[in-house]
Amino acid sequence: MLDELKDANEYIVSKIKETDTLILEMEAFALEHNVPIVTKEVAEYLKFLVESHNFKNILEIGTAIGYSGTIMGRVAKANGGKLTTIEIDEIRYQQALENFKKAGLENNINAILGDGVEEVKKLDEKFDFIFIDASKGHYMEFFNDSFERLSDNGIIFIDNIMFRGYLYKEYPKRFKTIVRRLNEFIDYLYAHHNFVLLPFGDGIGLVRNKITK
Ligand code: SAH
Ligand code: MG
Repeated sequence: MLDELKDANEYIVSKIKETDTLILEMEAFALEHNVPIVTKEVAEYLKFLVESHNFKNILEIGTAIGYSGTIMGRVAKANGGKLTTIEIDEIRYQQALENFKKAGLENNINAILGDGVEEVKKLDEKFDFIFIDASKGHYMEFFNDSFERLSDNGIIFIDNIMFRGYLYKEYPKRFKTIVRRLNEFIDYLYAHHNFVLLPFGDGIGLVRNKITK
């Protein structure tokens, strides 16, 4: 990440005073067990966006322990809707179920254990908001399958799209394929979609359902 951005993100995070005990508990758990949950400033933005559009039917690819899922699930519940969320790892899936229960969201969340690449194809409903946050090498697939399920005024939110800043600075060679794929993905989104790229967290991509090009 560019130093100035890192400083800005750190400054924002230092200003956020979280008081929700379940959210704080999940943040501490994630830190201790190395679970890559959304960073705090991204979590705040996610909540802001979902709340301000009154999104009801939400899809998430990459549940982990249910941190972002709890944030979005609460809004969906308040709007009389639901969150569908997909996780490939069974241990994390179980942890997420526990957290959703603690949050009182068990009736508003459809948690699916499986591979997002397969599971999204099986869904035959429309979503107002789709949050893509699973394996970075599969972003194009997650995107194309979920775009078909996006409602008319819906938004797709893609986390970590500039992958730790590796898309524009030196990076360990083992990430070469992911970096190439994400670069191609960004070019594809600019060329074919109503897309905006934001230097938030380690890069957020937003796509609207209206194709303008
Ligand atoms: N959205 C969560 C963090 C997700 S971390 C939050 O911010 O709270 C990414 C998660 O995606 C990991 O738990 C990982 O196990 C899961 N994952 C990786 N590849 C996947 C796939 N193909 N399908 C579904 N989940 C996947
Ligand atoms: Mg993420």
